[in-house]
Amino acid sequence: MDISINDYLTGVVAAEMPASFNVEALKAQAVAARTYALHKISKKSHFHQGYDICDNYACCSAYLGPSELKAKWGGDYDKYIEKIRSAVEATDGLYLTWAGEPILAVFHSSSPGKTEGSENVWKNPLPYLVPVDSPETPERVSNLLSTLSISAEDFKNTVLGRFPNAHFVDDPNLWISGVLYTESGRVKSLRVGGVDISGSDLRFLLGLRSTAFSFKYDGGSFVFSVAGYGHGVGMSQYGANILAADGATFDEILANYYPGAELTSFSGSFPS
Ligand SMILES: [Zn+2]
Repeated sequence: MDISINDYLTGVVAAEMPASFNVEALKAQAVAARTYALHKISKKSHFHQGYDICDNYACCSAYLGPSELKAKWGGDYDKYIEKIRSAVEATDGLYLTWAGEPILAVFHSSSPGKTEGSENVWKNPLPYLVPVDSPETPERVSNLLSTLSISAEDFKNTVLGRFPNAHFVDDPNLWISGVLYTESGRVKSLRVGGVDISGSDLRFLLGLRSTAFSFKYDGGSFVFSVAGYGHGVGMSQYGANILAADGATFDEILANYYPGAELTSFSGSFPS
């Protein structure tokens, strides 16, 4: 379907960030969404299908149309759609570049004090996706900390389902060793049953909210204590909301989370 850029970006920001967030955080999200769309279009992933962008969050960006947003927001629809549309329009044409190209403007929900470098999640380092300070604390983000408890038996079977070469001795205290950390303090890798597993792999295997975790074995179960939510790379949405509440403008928020990227402007339709 054909849809205007600003209608598209309004539906993306509405799908990706809580509408209750500070308007400067919503503006930062609008610029990130515009940048991400331009980056996708420049890769021409959907060129042969005859369109620019899809609505799969794992491929392009999540998008919600008016009827889905009415169902989601109910009586707040008019207030929220107006708030998000004005964040999109206030940043009309603005996007982030590195060496003249739209950056990979990834984002996540929250980070425990520091964001993550891209190479620890997707192999490739990028100069603007490096660890930076992020202001979340448990006092200011209610669900920043979480725990996950899993019995030793379930843990063993879950790991074996994905890593059949793992070997588990009788004492669960000896199952996990060799934990290595990234610069931001997240788990880079660890040895489980003699097999080296990345922090990201274990995160998805167990359903942990992030790779910023510690663990202990206690009374027949492993208990994982987790901080933050998401891969940790690029802009933290809760961090952006706190920075905005403390007086930062959207361009200052973007400069914090994508250091060195340049705020660039175009007018009219998307350049392709
Ligand atoms: Zn796509």
